[in-house]
Amino acid sequence: MTLGHEFGAGAACLKCKDKCEGFELHFWRKICRNCKCGLTEHDVPMISEENKKVGKLFEDTKYTGLIAKLKTEGVPGYQGNMVTITLVVPVSKDVPMKTVTYEWAPPVPNKYLAMRYIELLPLEKRPVAGTEGAVYRRQQMACQLPEHDQDPSKCHELTPAEVKQMQQYVRKYKDEALGVGDVLLPEEVAKVQVGKQSVAVAGSCHHCKQPMKMGEPAVYAERAGYEKLWHPACFVCCKCSELLVDMIYFWKKGKMYCGRHYGDSEKPRCAGCDELVFCNEYTQAEGQNWHLKHFCCFDCDCILAGETYVMENDKPVCTPCYMKNYAVKCSSCQNSVEPEAQRVSYGEFHWHAEPDCFKCSGCTKCLIGQRFMAVKNFLFCSVECKKKIMA
Ligand SMILES: [Zn+2]
Ligand SMILES: [Zn+2]
Ligand SMILES: [Zn+2]
Ligand SMILES: [Zn+2]
Ligand SMILES: [Zn+2]
Ligand SMILES: [Zn+2]
Ligand SMILES: [Zn+2]
Ligand SMILES: [Zn+2]
Repeated sequence: MTLGHEFGAGAACLKCKDKCEGFELHFWRKICRNCKCGLTEHDVPMISEENKKVGKLFEDTKYTGLIAKLKTEGVPGYQGNMVTITLVVPVSKDVPMKTVTYEWAPPVPNKYLAMRYIELLPLEKRPVAGTEGAVYRRQQMACQLPEHDQDPSKCHELTPAEVKQMQQYVRKYKDEALGVGDVLLPEEVAKVQVGKQSVAVAGSCHHCKQPMKMGEPAVYAERAGYEKLWHPACFVCCKCSELLVDMIYFWKKGKMYCGRHYGDSEKPRCAGCDELVFCNEYTQAEGQNWHLKHFCCFDCDCILAGETYVMENDKPVCTPCYMKNYAVKCSSCQNSVEPEAQRVSYGEFHWHAEPDCFKCSGCTKCLIGQRFMAVKNFLFCSVECKKKIMA
């Protein structure tokens, strides 16, 4: 059943095409029940949702510099800064003007600076409407700034104690870490550094250590201090090295993080529901953290604590689902090979490593530990047996 009011419901999956019947939100994983891809993999117009989400992120921040920058018409709310720029230079006779729409551009009064900022980003990451760069930005928006890192109501069944913990956590990053970068010319940044006697002209990029160029846009971040500058393409997360989406950053101990990786540096993240863990009881398995109630089979959601499970594409699945959906078939007895069973594989063929299955197709002699020949799904102990069967 598809609930009409659920955001994105029924949207086609761009990755799975016809294999997905349409987006249907899993009741606690943040993915599609049908194809297990995320919402952004589905064909959903995200712009208004993004603005709501980023607006919430900056709601109620005491950090005044930020609010001033993001505030429009007196409401502390982020407005996606969609910008259409008409290039004055005629491209050809038929197309007298070229217009480019950026799904986001730095909200600076100087249009040239905003445009130049975008030109300095790698081509495939420029947020030009209708290009892969715009898709990249939207996917980074979902990945770097998960709603469930900000809003307890987007989390699955938190206890009142967990809600309180989460609110404290959100308060903390709003007070201490969250910010949005700004774009200026290096020579302008120097002017902002009021009261500093000697101003290092231009200086070098905090990320790549290469010199900043006068006359070219530089990114700076109030939390980091005005003496630190970045090339537009160098304003990246220290963990994932992705461009900080819309220049939204989290600054901690001299390092720039995206929202997701800042969260990961503060709390364990549940590999089942993708939420940060705010309770004391959670489990570690397969090098990841899990809410106890979310260490579940990826296919049927049954709880796996204390059960045997199999890792399939880095996701835990229960033994029955493994047998049904992933297990290989024994070429001899035609049954699925249990996850714990010994098996012999040869090319795309598999056998139980048992005398009943791994045996000569000619004389039924057990071949475990013996020399053998394999022809497709047949096994032979000798040329004679092979001739007998294949002839
Ligand atoms: Zn999909
Ligand atoms: Zn889907
Ligand atoms: Zn740089
Ligand atoms: Zn990151
Ligand atoms: Zn969880
Ligand atoms: Zn299962
Ligand atoms: Zn078998
Ligand atoms: Zn034989």
